[in-house]
Amino acid sequence: MQKYVYLLTACMMGILLTGFQSKKEHLIAGQTMGTTYHVTVATEYLQSPAGLETRIAKRLNEINRSMSTYRKDSEISRFNALERTGAKFKISDDFLRVMQVAAQVFKLTGGAWDGTVHPLVDLWGFGPSENKRCIPAPEAIAALLPDVGFDHIEIIDTGHLVKKRAGAKLDLSSIAKGYAVDQVAELIRQSGVQDFLVEIGGEIYASGYRPDGQPWRIGINRPQKDAAYDQVYKVVALHNRAFATSGDYRNFFEVEGVRYSHVIDPRTGYPVSNGVVSVSIIADNCTLADGLATAVMVMGRAKGLALVDRLDQVECLIVIEKPDGSLVDLYSKGFTPKN
Ligand code: ADP
Ligand code: MG
Repeated sequence: MQKYVYLLTACMMGILLTGFQSKKEHLIAGQTMGTTYHVTVATEYLQSPAGLETRIAKRLNEINRSMSTYRKDSEISRFNALERTGAKFKISDDFLRVMQVAAQVFKLTGGAWDGTVHPLVDLWGFGPSENKRCIPAPEAIAALLPDVGFDHIEIIDTGHLVKKRAGAKLDLSSIAKGYAVDQVAELIRQSGVQDFLVEIGGEIYASGYRPDGQPWRIGINRPQKDAAYDQVYKVVALHNRAFATSGDYRNFFEVEGVRYSHVIDPRTGYPVSNGVVSVSIIADNCTLADGLATAVMVMGRAKGLALVDRLDQVECLIVIEKPDGSLVDLYSKGFTPKN
């Protein structure tokens, strides 16, 4: 009888603690790719995602070792250092898969997204080199433009890259985080959990439902430089969808009131300056969403919106800052914000 009473009390406590939910959330957090990650996993009340934390950290470390331009020993840095053209360079499956999506995004965007912007990113001081953030000499920019072009690199399905131009160097920062999100999502799914949220540096995948049975809700940061990191601008409900945002309001420098951001137009060699301050993309996978978010920043409102409306299962929110500082939202046809 005493045991029975104890069990009953424990049950009631459980119900009270969870607000009548049969599921509970587990949080896993850490650092990777120069940013932070947060994973929320919803399991049955008495289950726990055993070992998941270590497996996620290990997987993220693998991806970072492959595609970080901040590590001299990464695959991408070794490829960038190659001075020979025509030689086959063996790459991992991770690197190959990212390059395949990258090629797709390059093509879809008419070259607005271009993974070979690396020399320009470095020149403007946004890359791993010691270069200071300042406006480079126009001749220095012009001298690098011939090395920029995703077509300078051949991708072979056997898992090889070939440089067709010695100066071609890759920067996959705007797509690799999205890929890492997809890979963590896959790892969690394989462990038998269906309800979870993965976030790496603001790029997200939402699977299944929250413990209260509702879709996951994502807050978009107010895209203004003085906005607090937790200042919510818009809320979006997500179910089995990826969500990525690119903006010019966090990583930039200013000279005489002009903002120079880390998103660079590969055709001109200059940071984009088209009034678009933030682009959020919803897609089936985060690799594509991440790449497209940066691409639409470069393409601008009209071409960007036209591209997204043309793509199946892809939606976007483009935020424009008007000269008076006010913000204007542009939504693709199927985008439904919550407020
Ligand atoms: P964040 O990395 O802050 O999420 P993005 O996803 O928009 O922001 O990626 C911006 C990064 O992408 C830049 O720091 C640079 O390394 C790279 N990049 C800049 N311009 C381009 C471009 N036109 N195409 C591809 N990558 C770019
Ligand atoms: Mg991004």
